Amino acid sequence: MKKIVFILLLLVITTSLYAEQTFFTRGSLNIKEVALSFDDGPGLNTKDILKVLDKKDVKATFFLLGSSAAKRPKLVKEIYSKGHELANHTYNHMNFFRYDEENNKKEKIKEEILQCQDLIKDITGFRTKLVRFPHGYLKDDAIEIARETNYKIINWTFGIDWERDLSQEEMFDLYVENAKPGTIFLMHDLLKNTTITKMLPEFIDKLKSKGYKFVTVGEMINKRLSEENL
Ligand SMILES: [Zn+2]
Repeated sequence: MKKIVFILLLLVITTSLYAEQTFFTRGSLNIKEVALSFDDGPGLNTKDILKVLDKKDVKATFFLLGSSAAKRPKLVKEIYSKGHELANHTYNHMNFFRYDEENNKKEKIKEEILQCQDLIKDITGFRTKLVRFPHGYLKDDAIEIARETNYKIINWTFGIDWERDLSQEEMFDLYVENAKPGTIFLMHDLLKNTTITKMLPEFIDKLKSKGYKFVTVGEMINKRLSEENL
């Protein structure tokens, strides 16, 4: 009997540990690695960003928006063929914080994920396992759907590129200051504003000179999970 109780207890602990690991905002604090993530694209700045990443030999993670990807499938292929990681940012960028049809909200969340997933798969053959909801939406229904569809939800540690009033220098300083082991940086490749694209080469050089290695979000999360399981 004691043994059964022990096994059951172990199961509960393992399940709750697993449950906590559906959502991430960063990688391991013990490994000097950072990840660049780009949302909402492919968009206006994707090509230039890809050129910088190529030149600096950095692989990033692109949280693709289905509606953007549908307009620019060639760019989706290009991102993927260059070895970057593709991830899911839903299809229509709906704000689920403001979605008030509670009775079909879960179905809508699921539809938004699957529609984007299918499109990425149709274009590249790749099935992503990472999702970032628009506006960082993270309520129980989103977590439940993510588990059901075998996704990990990835938010971010730091991002500020949507602030139009910041100069390139101010933005550069803020991104550099917020680099810590495990930081997931949020940037956008659909913004009209090109500040991020312009500061990117110098930003990558600066962080490399501080001893940081750039990895994809997926790599970062896998390392963190294996570290926590040890
Ligand atoms: Zn977004």
